[in-house]
Amino acid sequence: MKGIGQELSVQNVSKYYGSFKALTDINLVCKPGEFVSILGSSGSGKTTLLKVIAGFERCSDGKIFINGKDVANVPCFKRNIGMLFQNYALFPHLTVAQNIAYPLKLRKLKKAEIDKKVSDMIDLIKLTGLGDRYPRQLSGGQQQRVGLARAIIYNPPLLLLDEPLGALDKNLRHEMQFEIKRITHELGMTTISVTHDQEEAFSMSDKICIVSAGQIQQFATPEQIYEKPANRFVAEFMGTTNIIPLKDAVYTDGDDGKTLVVGTSELTNGKCVLKTETKSIKSQDTNPFFALRPEAIHLAKEGSVYDNTFEAELTESIYLGQYVKAKAKVGSLLLNVTLDVREYRALDLTQKVKFCFDAEHTAILYS
Ligand code: ADP
Ligand code: MG
Repeated sequence: MKGIGQELSVQNVSKYYGSFKALTDINLVCKPGEFVSILGSSGSGKTTLLKVIAGFERCSDGKIFINGKDVANVPCFKRNIGMLFQNYALFPHLTVAQNIAYPLKLRKLKKAEIDKKVSDMIDLIKLTGLGDRYPRQLSGGQQQRVGLARAIIYNPPLLLLDEPLGALDKNLRHEMQFEIKRITHELGMTTISVTHDQEEAFSMSDKICIVSAGQIQQFATPEQIYEKPANRFVAEFMGTTNIIPLKDAVYTDGDDGKTLVVGTSELTNGKCVLKTETKSIKSQDTNPFFALRPEAIHLAKEGSVYDNTFEAELTESIYLGQYVKAKAKVGSLLLNVTLDVREYRALDLTQKVKFCFDAEHTAILYS
């Protein structure tokens, strides 16, 4: 099926509430059919951004284009956007089926067609048999699913979801994540979904937009965000990592199109070898950090040669079934490492443990 999705382009948008700046210079392009998650902690401006896109709030500065058209003067009900907002109430005097049918009635579809679509949708959101209930007779999670159904029933070309699965427990949340992804991809809707759940952002999105204090920290694919965080905030926000200062860095062109960075760090007690994409070098004379994920750290085998090795004292450890999470102490650094259970059990913990990591499995951070 040909995708119905529209392109959304947010350009230099800022938003003030009185003198408080809730959004600063937001730039974001969502291609037709893309699923984009806005990820950030509470109060970072996620809902405000959605409201500005929807037209519930005017931007103080900047422009928003939908399919190339500046929508500054298009009221929200004419933007044809499917929406599910936090606490976006269902109509209390309408049943589940009537709530879901509402957007179709507005669009004057035939009754038989409405009934069929609504009944399919009720099955899809796993509320079969509950079509005649009123919202007050539903749990929070059930109400949220009705809200979602009402937002997507008429196949909107642009869909805005504000924490759409927040009220669901874990299993149902996973199931609904899968369903939302399937529906939006099948129809090719462009979807912007707000969440504070990293795993949800990772599992659903083509791209993730990390927001902090009203500013975009990085807008990229989940892989790029995780493996090549733009800055220290993103590196620390996404999962667990280790941030290590790098001194006296010297940059040379590698023969693989990448840049070799050799510096010193407390971790490696001397030479530390890293690799980076050439374009990410900002300045030769700043003292950067590098991010080293726990899973990029491995036990070094005797007699093998590695880019980097270090010795650490393992302090705390937590057994997690498949693997062990531990803290490794090197000088003043306390690193997070993850180890295979069997490897961990074979270690002699009275001695320092020798670890290694690849130059490539690091990310250099300048801010
Ligand atoms: P999030 O959805 O990421 O939790 P919001 O976009 O709701 O964040 O809010 C961002 C910031 O703007 C918060 O500091 C919040 O207190 C403030 N804010 C939100 N709405 C208003 C409003 N109508 N008037 C004044 N301040 C607001
Ligand atoms: Mg919010």
